[in-house]
Amino acid sequence: MAELNLILLGPPGSGKGTQGERLQEDLDCPYYATGDILRAAVKEGTEVGRAAKEYMDRGDLVPDEVLIGIISDRLGSGEADHGFILDGFPRTVVQAEALDAELGELGRQLTAVVLIDVDDDEIVNRLSGRRVCQDKGHVYHVEYNPPAEEGICDVDGSELYTRDDDRPEVVRHRLEQYHDKTAPLVDYYKKQGLLNRVEGADDPDRVGEKIRTLVSTLSLEEG
Ligand code: ADP
Ligand code: ADP
Repeated sequence: MAELNLILLGPPGSGKGTQGERLQEDLDCPYYATGDILRAAVKEGTEVGRAAKEYMDRGDLVPDEVLIGIISDRLGSGEADHGFILDGFPRTVVQAEALDAELGELGRQLTAVVLIDVDDDEIVNRLSGRRVCQDKGHVYHVEYNPPAEEGICDVDGSELYTRDDDRPEVVRHRLEQYHDKTAPLVDYYKKQGLLNRVEGADDPDRVGEKIRTLVSTLSLEEG
């Protein structure tokens, strides 16, 4: 099967992480969630983590060159040679252009961009109830997707926490950043004929089914 080079695009809380975990199991290719990568760097206290923390706490975007460096390292490492799933990158037109250039140099191109579309009111509901596992970042919701045992991750038994940037005032700022800086990517990828919109307001299984169907069609087309 030809490689699938996929981007999951959508506002914060639209379900990119939830669906990315499922897709990764289906496709068995590297899954790069830049928010997870940055949070791990903050936890480890690396140079990138120290540079990123203040932006993340405010709900601002971390500077483009930091993110472009992170993704370029991974694409150049060989581990993503047979496909990848990107979640949370690109988030600006500058990042998207850098990704196009990087893939071009490697003689590769994107297969598709999956836009998970969810409106702002629903985003606020989702993020206020989001809980994340300390260990690997598995994602839950207190109401829509609760763990079997309250406060504990079903997969690895680690404790669940509420992200600092999921506080309502930070969420509002993150949404502004999305509309201002990331939403222009919808047109950017539409023009390249890569955009596939999926209604994200359904329950997670239904959204997952729609994405799975879309990806199977793409695999057939790619031969
Ligand atoms: P969500 O999916 O809930 O929006 P993420 O976990 O993807 O959040 O990202 C958390 C934070 O990490 C963002 O608010 C931003 O500060 C930073 N971040 C992640 N990816 C990028 C990116 N591609 N460009 C700039 N900042 C990023
Ligand atoms: P993102 O990675 O885009 O920020 P997440 O996958 O972390 O989004 O989802 C945000 C929150 O919404 C989580 O608490 C998650 O459990 C919940 N969630 C995800 N998809 C759905 C859905 N289709 N319906 C209801 N809640 C959802």
